[in-house]
Amino acid sequence: MEPRDTLGRPLKALRISVTDRCNFRCTYCMPKDVFGPDYPFLAREALLSFEEITRLARIFIRLGVTKIRLTGGEPLMRRELPVLVRMLSALPGLEDLALTSNGVLLPDLARPLKDAGLNRITVSLDTLRPDRFRAISDTDLPLDRVLAGVAAARAAGFGPVKLNCVLKRGVNDDEILDLATFAREEGHTLRFIEFMDVGTTNGWRMEEVVPASRVRALIHAHWPLEPVEAEGDAVARTWRYGDGKGEVGLIASVTQPFCRGCDRARLSAEGRLYTCLFAGDGLDLKGFLRNGHDDPSLTALLGFHWKRRSDHYSEIRHAATPGLPKVEMSRMGG
Ligand code: SAM
Ligand code: SF4
Ligand code: SF4
Repeated sequence: MEPRDTLGRPLKALRISVTDRCNFRCTYCMPKDVFGPDYPFLAREALLSFEEITRLARIFIRLGVTKIRLTGGEPLMRRELPVLVRMLSALPGLEDLALTSNGVLLPDLARPLKDAGLNRITVSLDTLRPDRFRAISDTDLPLDRVLAGVAAARAAGFGPVKLNCVLKRGVNDDEILDLATFAREEGHTLRFIEFMDVGTTNGWRMEEVVPASRVRALIHAHWPLEPVEAEGDAVARTWRYGDGKGEVGLIASVTQPFCRGCDRARLSAEGRLYTCLFAGDGLDLKGFLRNGHDDPSLTALLGFHWKRRSDHYSEIRHAATPGLPKVEMSRMGG
């Protein structure tokens, strides 16, 4: 029996973080003054093994999950990731296996990931300007490597590649049309994401959020848009360009919350289960796994946990909620 939470939501999607480490220090996610050389990243033995991840994934599928996305941190920094992809893609009942990456390591890994059975790739791309890229990602790795990663993903057969762009007012909102032009011309699907108050270290302020309605109006004035009916969970509102040049997505997590349709759980690299991106605590699944619990008892535990879920943070966000204790996105899995 597939469980429903207290708001009647099923469990359909699972994000699995495979590492809390990253080769970028994006200011909105892992600011360098917090995630510096002394930051206590997880030790290797604290991470779930591929066998443990696959065992849990099988149980999640039994409870209704059909879509899995690998994330982090930067998931491509986890050694031998294609081995995990091969193990997960073989699971009966899994309909979609995807990955979100900053793209830098894709030139080498896109092909092995495709061969291992990965279905889709999303690459984060906030700017097309090298100097701005350096400031936002706070890394010495060049923007060209990200663009080469996007091209490698397409060449490996992951087309259209989804591009995620987090907009911050005064930082990159003057590039909306440039990014849309790039995606239209290259045949990628761009999605603009509102800057969110994830974790507690990114200095989030409502004034810096660029509302999706503004983005839509700007693009629509340039290239008329038509709505696309949402399928499944309505996280991204999708719009089709009237001239037939693809689609653009808008993720209005702050200004138009979509908690009512949220069917997503997150499994962190250290094996904690979170039922909301803004959670302050998670269930220690690794503890249960390593204490010898068998599959039926883990299934019952997870089903029970989902049935108790009542999260709807984005619907109740107000002046004081950004200050609540929350787990960092890089740790929980973005
Ligand atoms: N490192 C990979 C990447 O950047 O694509 C995967 C992990 S990252 C945490 C997943 C997604 O979360 C990225 O698309 C990133 O842009 C987005 N993200 C991170 N911090 C965010 C924030 N404060 N608000 C909105 N989106 C954010
Ligand atoms: Fe790393 Fe992705 Fe976070 Fe940027 S958004 S710091 S690439 S995990
Ligand atoms: Fe889901 Fe939590 Fe985001 Fe609402 S705030 S959509 S419950 S992750």
